[in-house]
Amino acid sequence: MRKQIAAANWKMNLTLQQGETLLDTIIATPHSLTDNQQAVFAVPFPYLAMAQQKLAGKKNVFVAAQNCYSKKNGAYTGETSVEMLQSLGIRYVVLGHSERREYFNESNQLLAEKVNICLEYQIQPIFCCGEPLSIREANTQNAYVTKQLEESLYHLTAEQLQHIVIAYEPIWAIGTGKTASSAQAQEMHAFIRAQLAARYGAAVANNISILYGGSVKAANAVEIFGQTDVDGGLVGGASLIADEFVSIINALKK
Ligand code: PEP
Repeated sequence: MRKQIAAANWKMNLTLQQGETLLDTIIATPHSLTDNQQAVFAVPFPYLAMAQQKLAGKKNVFVAAQNCYSKKNGAYTGETSVEMLQSLGIRYVVLGHSERREYFNESNQLLAEKVNICLEYQIQPIFCCGEPLSIREANTQNAYVTKQLEESLYHLTAEQLQHIVIAYEPIWAIGTGKTASSAQAQEMHAFIRAQLAARYGAAVANNISILYGGSVKAANAVEIFGQTDVDGGLVGGASLIADEFVSIINALKK
């Protein structure tokens, strides 16, 4: 059975002290995670060790980095390798967030390299895909997302693909307060799963968690996560508010 995941993306927000308080509050608030559910915290690089320490031993709770570099090590000042992340015990890395694609020119090809190196070091990518507004308005979102998956993931074997989590994040819904309707989310998630099934077989496709991202909050999480092919969410703004994020965790399907 595929995992249901509530992943917090703090982006470039919060001081260390604010981050500590947020995690302490979330840990202290009763929330239920079944064996099939996970909560993941993608925190800024300087806070990875702190988060890892605070969440150590917490069942089904993991820390993620928000990025990594595509090379193993060497003279790449300012970059962070997956070997470094592995040495901290980090489980996940968010790759290909639309903000990285847009502001840091990350291409599908570069992301394929990052996916490869993460898998080599047993770190699971949370691979983001999703279309801008102009593509949605032209109704060509399926082709757009297919290309992202094709160029960054479809070189993987079926065994490798099972270690990927996909996050579908329509760019027009990120940080805008505009959520895709639950029907729009389900439609794209079912489309992605059908593409994976055509390529890797239904058994593999049914095992891949596909998260929705784009203005998820406590008020809409139950409805969005309730869709058949939506396996939780990647959450920006609402993940910075403890009781919002706890409600989002509690909205995961059992
Ligand atoms: C995100 O950061 O991936 C995101 C979906 O942000 P928000 O929830 O704020 O739209």
